[in-house]
Amino acid sequence: MVSVDLPVPGRALAVGAHPDDIEFGAGATLAKWAAAGCEVSFVVYTDGSKGSWDPAADLAALVATRQAEACDAARALGATGEVAFLERVDGELENDRETRSELARWIRVLRPDVLLGHDPWKRYRLHPDHRAAGFSTTDALVAARDPHFFAEHGLAHHRPSALLLFEADEPDHAEAVEPTHVESKIAALETHRSQYESTMFISLLNPGEGTGDGTEAADLLGERERFRAEVTDSLAEAGQWAGVRFAERFRFLPTDR
Ligand SMILES: [Zn+2]
Repeated sequence: MVSVDLPVPGRALAVGAHPDDIEFGAGATLAKWAAAGCEVSFVVYTDGSKGSWDPAADLAALVATRQAEACDAARALGATGEVAFLERVDGELENDRETRSELARWIRVLRPDVLLGHDPWKRYRLHPDHRAAGFSTTDALVAARDPHFFAEHGLAHHRPSALLLFEADEPDHAEAVEPTHVESKIAALETHRSQYESTMFISLLNPGEGTGDGTEAADLLGERERFRAEVTDSLAEAGQWAGVRFAERFRFLPTDR
């Protein structure tokens, strides 16, 4: 059984391990909700400092670039809430007490109706940050909803009414989206220019650059078109699964158990 479409939340908080994970996992859904008046906020756990194949990369500059890209991506989705960075070292994220506390604090401050995050139970996943982010987010939700966890926050406890896990191992919920939300998701992903080569496999030449014969520019446009088609196809495939044109898939968890 697949459920389709939660009521549009008043506030949503999406939590990702790295500066582009939220856009990949839930960008179209967040664009849809933002367009319907939902206040969408982001928390990013790590600083993204491993996101380069260049051994000589200036990592401080990379971190600053990736934070700016994440803010631009949030704007591309129409998000009007917070974009917060917990600045854990990329690749070394741990679901420790301090990290859970920081996220639980944001949940109590922002009081989202829906919380979104990585599925920590996804099998055969290599990246340690995605596992740690998933467990930290689910654990922080439990802490935020119960008054005796992290009482030092001095904030009222808050329970989101739903948790949606993206890149889910066993999805059971779809958010149907329109072509305009697909476009917003692609636009948000394309703000992450620092990740073109390592994540999206798009060359960094600009149109018109290259040897002068136009070959490289043509290749770049081809690569961008290929990336856009991949994103669109994955949303169409999820849509077919849910019986709609385009969708994103999630695991829905009630938050009162
Ligand atoms: Zn990631």
